[in-house]
Amino acid sequence: MEILKNYSLKSHNTFGIDASAEAFAIISSIDELQELLEIRTAKKQINILGGGSNILLTQDLPGLTILNSITGIEHLSQSEDHVLIKSGAGEVWHEFVMYCIARDLAGVENLSLIPGRVGAAPMQNIGAYGIELKEVFHSLEAVEINSGEVVTFDKSACDFGYRSSTFKKENKGQYVIVSVTMKLSKKPSLNTSYGAINQELEAMGVDNLSIAAVSQAVINIRSSKLPDPAVIGNAGSFFKNPVIETSQADSLKKQFPELVSYPAEAGMMKVAAGWLIDQAGWKGKRIGDYGVHDKQALVLVNHGSASGSQIRDLSAQIQADIEKKFGIRLEPEVNIW
Ligand code: FAD
Ligand code: NAP
Repeated sequence: MEILKNYSLKSHNTFGIDASAEAFAIISSIDELQELLEIRTAKKQINILGGGSNILLTQDLPGLTILNSITGIEHLSQSEDHVLIKSGAGEVWHEFVMYCIARDLAGVENLSLIPGRVGAAPMQNIGAYGIELKEVFHSLEAVEINSGEVVTFDKSACDFGYRSSTFKKENKGQYVIVSVTMKLSKKPSLNTSYGAINQELEAMGVDNLSIAAVSQAVINIRSSKLPDPAVIGNAGSFFKNPVIETSQADSLKKQFPELVSYPAEAGMMKVAAGWLIDQAGWKGKRIGDYGVHDKQALVLVNHGSASGSQIRDLSAQIQADIEKKFGIRLEPEVNIW
């Protein structure tokens, strides 16, 4: 295992930010990870990287950056209805989804085409088109950074919430996820209620609904709506959709009848952050080489040579403006480093 010095991370983050890691190593096994953790100099910062599709680099990274490339997919057990599958954290998420679909195993089809690696999926309980990882999640294994010990987390220990988990809260920065075990269904109950899925299935001429058809519909919608990081640097939704009290949503609706919101947990409403940003006039705004995407107001973009701090400053301006106009504080979904 090689440790590289002053290694450029430009091709390891989907924003395409040109920052470097003081030291950089790729691990492909738990043993390699434990070895690295043992030899690191005391107190040296450890940064864990997957596909780099949910980070914004605002500086060169001090300490050791570890790219998790532990691969391998294993069937642990099965019953009449389910299969338990364990995936290495370094597997590409969408390839894992395709693996399940090829075997007619349901549960992750709505999460097709989300960039990144399997190991990062529990970090923010990835979600799209009405499904979240927690619905198929069984358990994960993680290496504790301080002790090097392998620990198992079950679903309740992960404390999953809306785009969150314990790994973004109390256990932030303390573990390297090395594998994720998911419970896939042999007898699918497909969820096509969300957004444009049914419309797309109709346009595709699908008569017999299948896992593969739902996945393809999601892939078609995503490809037509979302900016491809290979073409224009971005990390998907920059902010989370804010969840506010129903009473606040009701009074906002009086002022802004077009406000886009959905019921959340009891007494709360989820407001579409993209709508707020669009209404405030930020959609399509470009300053030099960075700005807000012209079709997706929730996505901040790097048109070429923007720095991470320019994009962070833009996000702060948007936050302040939305707070002033709507009284709602947007929280970043992207991890700012
Ligand atoms: P990285 O960006 O590398 O890391 C993200 C965070 O997780 C960092 O804090 C990192 O330290 C930590 N981390 C990564 N791997 C590990 C590990 N093995 N152990 C411990 N910590 C780790 N997200 C959604 O939820 N739904 C979507 O629909 C969605 N669509 C997107 C569309 C686009 C075009 C883009 C660019 C992003 C989108 N995202 C979406 C965000 C992103 O793809 C996901 O959050 C994804 O899970 C990030 O994976 P990654 O491997 O790239 O993580
Ligand atoms: P969209 O369908 O235009 O909808 C806009 C927002 O409204 C979404 O953020 C979504 O919240 C919410 N919404 C729409 N229909 C809903 C319903 N029936 N019930 C509850 N909430 C609903 O969104 P989009 O931007 O094209 O994205 C489509 C899906 O992909 C969304 O689930 C989105 O989260 C996901 N996505 C995520 C990222 C990311 O980086 N996190 C990037 C691209 C797309 P939710 O976000 O809570 O679903």
